[in-house]
Amino acid sequence: MAPAGSSPMSIETAVIHTGVPKVLGSAVMPIFQSATYGYSGDGNEDLVAYTRPADSPNHHALARAIAAIEGTEGALVTASGMAAISSTLLALLRPGDHLLIQTATYGGTSELVHQELSSLGIEHTTVDPADPGSWEKALRTNTKVFYVESISNPLIGVADMEAVAAFSQQHGLTHVVDNTFATPVLLKPARLGFIVIHSATKFLNGHSDIIAGAVAGPANFIAKVREKIVVYGGVLDPHACFLLQRGLTTLALRVRQQISSALALANFLEEHPQVEKVNYPGLESSPFHGLAKRLFKGSGGGVLSFEVKGGPSAAQALLKALKLPLIAPSLGGVESLITMPSFTSHEALGVEGRKAAGISESLIRLSVGIEGTEDLIADFAQALGATANGNANNGALTSLKVS
Ligand SMILES: *Cc1c(COP(=O)(O)O)cnc(C)c1O
Repeated sequence: MAPAGSSPMSIETAVIHTGVPKVLGSAVMPIFQSATYGYSGDGNEDLVAYTRPADSPNHHALARAIAAIEGTEGALVTASGMAAISSTLLALLRPGDHLLIQTATYGGTSELVHQELSSLGIEHTTVDPADPGSWEKALRTNTKVFYVESISNPLIGVADMEAVAAFSQQHGLTHVVDNTFATPVLLKPARLGFIVIHSATKFLNGHSDIIAGAVAGPANFIAKVREKIVVYGGVLDPHACFLLQRGLTTLALRVRQQISSALALANFLEEHPQVEKVNYPGLESSPFHGLAKRLFKGSGGGVLSFEVKGGPSAAQALLKALKLPLIAPSLGGVESLITMPSFTSHEALGVEGRKAAGISESLIRLSVGIEGTEDLIADFAQALGATANGNANNGALTSLKVS
C-alpha cells in the first residue's frame, strides 16, 4: 500500500508490490490450497477459518492488488464475472426496487436483469448510456441503481461516465460499472464514485486460462457483497487466485500493446476498400471519440468491431482465411480472438433483436492480442485479399456456434 498522503502507485508498480505478503521469503504469493484453517483462538483480526467467504491469504492478497489498481478502499474476487455482477446487484436491490441499466449489456447481465431479477420483483428500465437527456424520464421513486458498461459490446460504444455519476449523485442512486473492456489502464471509475466490476476472465487475467471476477469499492460495500458470496457460493478457488495474481502483474504491459495494435488495425481496416465500417472509439471518425478523449485520453481499448462488404458469408469467409486470430468468444487474452456476435454472444437476441440493437449480421468482433502488430496487419491484409479474389472456402462456419 502507498503510505498515507502520498500519491497512488502506478498500476505497473501496484500489481507487483501490493498485497504480496512475504511468506518464508518467497518472491511470489504461494497458493494456500486449503478449504479450512485451524482456529488459533488468539484474537487475530486476520484469522482465516474457511475459504468460501473469499477469506484465504490468496483472496486477501488479490483483493488488495485489485483495490490498488482501481483506486478503491476494498475489493473482492469472485468465481466469475457473473458472480461479481449478480452478488453486487443482489447486495444493492430488494424486491420492489428498480434499476436503470444501459441497453445492450453483456448477454449474461441482460439475462440476469431481465429474467432472474424480474422474477424476484426487481424491475428495470433500459437507457442509452451516451444520451443523458433521456434518463430523467426513466427514473422512478423506487430507482436505486444505475448500471452501465464503460465500453460496450459488440459496438464498442462509450458510456458518458461523468454524466452517469452526476445523475446518480443528484438522484441518490448507486452507480455501478462493468469496467471489463476498459480496464483500469484506460479508466478508474471509482474516481467518479462508481462501484467497479470486472470479468477478470478477460484483461485482468489476460491468459484465457481461468474464469474469475472482481468487485471494487468502499470497504463497507464490499462487506455486503461478501455476504452474498457466502450464501450464493461464488467463491474463486485459491489456485485460480494464484493464476489471476500472476496474470495481473503484466496487465498494463499487455493492455498497452493491445491498444497500440488495435489502433493500427482499426486504421488499416478503415482504409480498406472491402471494409464497410469500423467501430473503435480511438478513431477520430468514431461518434464516441469525444468521450474517449475525455475519459480515456483518446484511447479506444483492445477490442474493435467491423463489418465487411458482402454480408455474413463474406464475414465468415474472412474468419476462415485468417491464420492468427483464434475463432472463439471471450476477449482480453494474449492471443487475438475473433468472433461474429450474431453466432455467439448475441445469438439469443434473434435477427430482429440484433437489428433493433444495431448489430449487423456480418459484424465481426476482434479482441487484439499481444502478437506483433505487423504480423496481425499482414494477416488481415492476406485474408481480405484472399476473400476478395474468391479464393476462400465460403462454406458456412458452423464451428462458430457455441452452446
Ligand atoms: C465476459 C464478460 C462478463 C462475464 O464474465 P464471466 O467471467 O464469463 O462470468 C461480464 N461482462 C463483460 C463485459 C464480459 O465481457
